[in-house]
Amino acid sequence: MTETNPTLSFEVFPPNSQVGVDNLTDTLDQLKGLNPSFISVTASNHKLNYEETTIDLAKYVKDNLHCHTMVHMPAAYVTKAEVSSILNRLEKMNIHQVLALRGDIVDGYVPEKDFKYASDLTQFIKTEKPNFTVSGACYPEVHPDSKNRIDDIRHLKDKVDSGCDQLITQLFYDNEQFYRFQEECAIADINVPILAGIMPIVNRKQALHVIENCAARLPKKFINILDKYKDNPVSLKEAGIAYAVDQIVDLVTNDVSGVHLYTMNKADTAKHIFKNTASLFNIESVIE
Ligand code: FAD
Repeated sequence: MTETNPTLSFEVFPPNSQVGVDNLTDTLDQLKGLNPSFISVTASNHKLNYEETTIDLAKYVKDNLHCHTMVHMPAAYVTKAEVSSILNRLEKMNIHQVLALRGDIVDGYVPEKDFKYASDLTQFIKTEKPNFTVSGACYPEVHPDSKNRIDDIRHLKDKVDSGCDQLITQLFYDNEQFYRFQEECAIADINVPILAGIMPIVNRKQALHVIENCAARLPKKFINILDKYKDNPVSLKEAGIAYAVDQIVDLVTNDVSGVHLYTMNKADTAKHIFKNTASLFNIESVIE
């Protein structure tokens, strides 16, 4: 049996200010040469300038970093006609990877009606462009809209059967939750690669945001870091990055298919983690 190397990919988001744009351009410059498996570009959770933000940033990444690029596409914010036109545009840009999502439905927004779930969008993309790779989101600690774990896995199986080539998880801080989820997927005959979503905690504000908005279980070791370094941002960042590296080492030694790093558009964090783990992914890269 030949062993395949796990993949390492990055996620960036389109900034919503000029300072953010400058910061991201600098970040992407610094990520040049790292040679990740792909870089994914998120979509905002409202129908604002999707093409000018997500798709334009994806083009920038593709043209300047010359790496595989994936665009996030939220079904609730697009019509079939828009998807067809965007897919054609992506093809011309030599981008063939989409993360098909339902998207978060924010207060006051009435979703488009062409696609109800991510699986509907997945099926549509696969019919329009069979050569595209379509990824889907998954939730080791259950999607908040789901009645229970069983329903969530059942719907995930439908999503994979609708044409998903791989899955990327919501962030988690307890690897045991991920391993349990992997087992449940195997039992449900979900056999596509599952990439583990890792978001290093680099400041207290971000940590509190995660705690408030994600249903992620926070191990004692993680809480201890937040408590001990609550008044020491430098140590908090260092410990947060070390925690993420520790998670990644554990995942890779347990044969994870891939790690997807939520970079939060911060080059130094991504580079630091990269330097400490690149050999685990057998990536040859040029970084200073
Ligand atoms: P779905 O797979 O459609 O599932 C949504 C819910 O519906 C789940 O509870 C599921 O169990 C249930 N369900 C599915 N099918 C059925 C069915 N047939 N009948 C009944 N129930 C069903 N959001 C953004 O807006 N922009 C982004 O860029 C973005 N990137 C993300 C990246 C990752 C890796 C992840 C994990 C999430 C991302 N999200 C993003 C958030 C995502 O859009 C939300 O979590 C959203 O609420 C659900 O999206 P989904 O694609 O998982 O939906």
